[in-house]
Amino acid sequence: PFFKEYNAAVFPDETKLLAKLNANENPYGPSPMAVEAFKKSAHFGNRYAWKELFDLVDKIAVLENVDAKNIMMGPGSSDLLEKTAMIMFAEGGNVVSADPSYMSLIKVAEATGASWKAVPLKEDWSHDLQAMEAAIDADTKLVYICNPNNPTGSMTDHTELVDFCSRVSEKVPVFVDEAYMGFLEDGDTKSMVSLVNQGKDVIIARTFSKIHGMAGLRVGYIVAKETTLDKIQAVTRGGMGITYPSVFAASASMDDVEFKNKSRKLNAECREFVYATLDKMGYEYVPSFTNFILFPIEMDGEAFLEKMTAQQVGVRAFEVKGKNWCRVSMGTMDEMKLFAAAFEKVMV
Ligand code: PLP
Repeated sequence: PFFKEYNAAVFPDETKLLAKLNANENPYGPSPMAVEAFKKSAHFGNRYAWKELFDLVDKIAVLENVDAKNIMMGPGSSDLLEKTAMIMFAEGGNVVSADPSYMSLIKVAEATGASWKAVPLKEDWSHDLQAMEAAIDADTKLVYICNPNNPTGSMTDHTELVDFCSRVSEKVPVFVDEAYMGFLEDGDTKSMVSLVNQGKDVIIARTFSKIHGMAGLRVGYIVAKETTLDKIQAVTRGGMGITYPSVFAASASMDDVEFKNKSRKLNAECREFVYATLDKMGYEYVPSFTNFILFPIEMDGEAFLEKMTAQQVGVRAFEVKGKNWCRVSMGTMDEMKLFAAAFEKVMV
């Protein structure tokens, strides 16, 4: 692997942050309709939410245009990334994925006994699909693709990815993590979900944590072939970890189109503001398709985190391709102004 994440020597007390821009959360959520549904249903928290969970699955199946049998729920998509890794790599093998990318599935794969075949992103920050295909060998159990990618915010060409997933999934399952797809205006047309209906062994992860603003309420799901889900569900139950009120909050949030449109629009405005701030200061950045922006800084990552934390602004820092980078999540416009002021102070 070529990239690493910096951690501040002292973990910041997040309650002291004026702007918490370090976890790609949605600052506007949850939707008021979701909060209302959560409150109302809390009274029934003495019950298991079996029927209610099946109702949510049916509703998601309609949205995704797949059969309910193709859906597995989890308390956030992390749960499903981790479970998939534990099951797919129970007998070792390797996982092929981009470097840098989101590490949750890869870390669990490694802890389970697999090795990581890291394939650097291309110059334009898209997945090097050709090199990834070439990296697949007899021991490869899964290919992981995060699109749009974290921590870069970059996107891989849709047609090329459809082609890659269709072909490669004949040999080995392809896991496509679409956590940030909801921030795209045309996210629905960029998903890999329709490949599942074509019988392809593609597993797509989606979450209520990002565009729905429900990171703390923990709801996510994967869409996959029934036989693939059978393998995972033979060992582990997905929806068991979701609380009764969160099931209702997710369902209500699906109906609140206005909230998602608002989140998408304000997120795009904040991105433009950060681009303008960085342009003005002479910094480059990776154009973002998500709710965060990655850009190079000329300062040690750990020192940078400490200085930003001293300004009460929480961000993340990485080393990628031998350079140091800041990843800043989009908060409210007020928070982005605090970020800009802190960044200007820290970088003088
Ligand atoms: N996938 C990606 C790419 C992420 O960035 C995150 C969270 O930041 C997740 C999955 C996990 O999110 P959750 O478990 O809240 O669904």
